[in-house]
Amino acid sequence: MIFKNAKINAFRTWGLLLTMLGMGLMVLGTAGIVFFGQAGKIFAGIGLVFGLIMMMGSLGIYFWAGMLSTSAVQIQCPECSKLTKMLGKTDRCMFCHTILTLDPSQANITAEELEAQQTKA
Ligand SMILES: [Zn+2]
Repeated sequence: MIFKNAKINAFRTWGLLLTMLGMGLMVLGTAGIVFFGQAGKIFAGIGLVFGLIMMMGSLGIYFWAGMLSTSAVQIQCPECSKLTKMLGKTDRCMFCHTILTLDPSQANITAEELEAQQTKA
């Protein structure tokens, strides 16, 4: 599902995934102290450090996604007519996952053709 998504949504998904993983590791690390006592402290330390790194990573991804979305082009999706944001020349609609492109040579249908199709149907 991740790969069939709009790029900004994909970034958010990965950011969320990393946050969950990081939090999970921190919780596991802390649980290590409870279950293994003294020996679990090393395990806890490793878990906490890796958890923290993953949280930082996810923060970076969120930040990056935020930066990218400011430079994204806002367009109205021709398929579902909702406002969506595009990254690069080709991206998917955030709502209906239709592939959209700004490059005329990659498009197999133009906006005018689609409009004609929709008014016919
Ligand atoms: Zn759409």
